[in-house]
Amino acid sequence: MLIRLDVTTTKHTQMLDITDKIREAVRESGVKDGICTVFVPHTTAAVTINENADPDVVRDFTTEIDKIVPWEDGYHHMEGNSAAHLKSSMIGFSEQIIIDDGRLVLGTWQGIYFCEYDGPRHRKVYVKVMG
Ligand code: ZN
Repeated sequence: MLIRLDVTTTKHTQMLDITDKIREAVRESGVKDGICTVFVPHTTAAVTINENADPDVVRDFTTEIDKIVPWEDGYHHMEGNSAAHLKSSMIGFSEQIIIDDGRLVLGTWQGIYFCEYDGPRHRKVYVKVMG
């Protein structure tokens, strides 16, 4: 079963905690033991797993990645969003999470984040759950 989630971002660079949405998708699937793949079908967005306890982690993450890959840096790409393409590939387009006893196996401080690098936009996230 392939589950499609809709995500709306509100900022140019943003990390949205989608852990609860992924948990819901796993619940819907009915799979108790298996693997959940989260896939972002965009070239200027990404998905990652990181701390969801202290919001300053997200703040530092977005601030620093904007420094590592500045928006303007003499890029050639006509669309003008090369920085977003680079950040997406650096962070990655998918994550796999183990499902055990119907639950996502995540560390205490881990959450799943949708990463926007060229927002705001309406985005999709695919979740494939395999038992
Ligand atoms: Zn582009």
